[in-house]
Amino acid sequence: MQLTASPLNLTLRHAFSTSRSTQHIARNVLVEIRDGDLVGRGEASPIRLYNQTQESCIRALNAIAKRIAKRDPFELETILADLRARFPNEPSAIAAVDIALYDLLGKKMKLPLWKWLGLDPKKTPQTSFTIGIDSMEKVVAKVAEAQKYPVLKIKLGVANDMEILREVRKLTPKKLLRVDANCGWTVKETIQKAKTLEALGIEFLEQPIPAGNNAALKKIKNSIGVSLMTDESSLVPADVPALAGCVDGINIKLVKCGGLREALKMIHIARGSGLKIMLGCMIESSVLIGAAAQLSPLADYADLDGNVLIADDPFTSVKLDRKAKLILNDRPGIGCDAA
Ligand SMILES: [Mg+2]
Repeated sequence: MQLTASPLNLTLRHAFSTSRSTQHIARNVLVEIRDGDLVGRGEASPIRLYNQTQESCIRALNAIAKRIAKRDPFELETILADLRARFPNEPSAIAAVDIALYDLLGKKMKLPLWKWLGLDPKKTPQTSFTIGIDSMEKVVAKVAEAQKYPVLKIKLGVANDMEILREVRKLTPKKLLRVDANCGWTVKETIQKAKTLEALGIEFLEQPIPAGNNAALKKIKNSIGVSLMTDESSLVPADVPALAGCVDGINIKLVKCGGLREALKMIHIARGSGLKIMLGCMIESSVLIGAAAQLSPLADYADLDGNVLIADDPFTSVKLDRKAKLILNDRPGIGCDAA
C-alpha cells in the first residue's frame, strides 16, 4: 500500500466562530492509499484545541505511510490499534487512514460501506445546519440564507447569546433548533439559561460546560428540562461508559475518535448505555462528511454540514433531500468522488 498525504485548504463561505475561535480557512489534509489500481480516499481536519496542525498531521501521516507500506489493508484492527498506540496525539491523522482503508476495501469488494455494514439507507437522519457566533445583524442574515434547512444548530457561549437565540426563534417559529455552547458556560449559568431554552422549545443543548466533569453534567441534566448532549466530553470510546446517566446522548466526530472503526465502537457502547447518538463534524470536505454519513442510519441526530459551509469542496458524496435528510449513494466505499 502506498499512502500519500497532501494539504487540503478549504475556504469557508462565511467566517465561522464558536465560543472559542474564528476560522476563515480550514487547513485539512487529504490522504490517498493506493493498492494496485484502486485508491482509497480519507481526510483529516486537525484540531488546534488539541495541538494538532496541518503540519503535525502530515508529519504523522508520512511516518504512518512507511509503517503500513507492507501491510494488507484487510488488517484494519491491527493496523489501527498500532497507530493509536504510536500516534496518540494525532487521532485526526489516524481517522484519515481508517477512512481511506475502508474506502479502499469497499472498492475492492465493490460495495458501499453502508451495505457492507448491513445498514438501511432509508434510516438516515436529517442534518442540522450550523449558525456560528456573529453579530445580531449577521446571525439574522445567516438564518435567512439557511431557509432551506429545517433544523438549525445555533452556536452560543457569548454574553448576549439568549438575545440572539430569542431573535432566531422569532425568525423561525417552526424550525427545530439545537444549541451548542462549546464549553462556554458555567453550571449555574447553564441551569439558568436552560429555562429560556425550554421556553423557546430548543430540542437539545450540546456541551454547555468544559469537559472533564461528568458529575456536573449529571447535576445539569437533573436540573433542566432540555435534552443534554456532549461533544468535547465524548472524544473516544473509553469516554462513553462513564457518561451513562449523566447526559442524554453523545456527539461522535470521526476526527476526534480516530475514524469509522472507533466511531462504531462508540455507537454500540452508547446504545448499550441508553445514550442517544449524534454524528457531528468539523469544517470538512465531502470526503469526511461522506464517510460519517455511511454510519448515519445508526444515529438519532446528524450534524454533518461541514461540506456545505465551504465554498470550494473538491469532492461530492452524500446529498440532502428537501428536508435535509442525508441521501446515501451506491458508489463503493465511502461513496465519494471528485466534484
Ligand atoms: Mg459541538
